[in-house]
Amino acid sequence: MITKYCTKCGSKWLVSNPNASECPKCDGALRGETNGDKIRSMTDEELAKWLCNNMDCPICPGDSFCEVCGGLSNGLVKWLKQEAT
Ligand SMILES: [Zn+2]
Repeated sequence: MITKYCTKCGSKWLVSNPNASECPKCDGALRGETNGDKIRSMTDEELAKWLCNNMDCPICPGDSFCEVCGGLSNGLVKWLKQEAT
């Protein structure tokens, strides 16, 4: 299954056919998932790991998770779950 978005009504669809090109709701054109879509649909834990892997973390040695982003109750995950100020 892959995720597609309607360019007309904005609906999100899980489709089995990668060539599906028409929105079942409004007949609008479907587009694939962008990097932004992917990041926005991540859980806090997935996002913390993604940030750790893709950004330059000053704390992580190599590619092992540091205290900031590793573990489910640690720094970055905790921060992502806080109300924005
Ligand atoms: Zn649509």
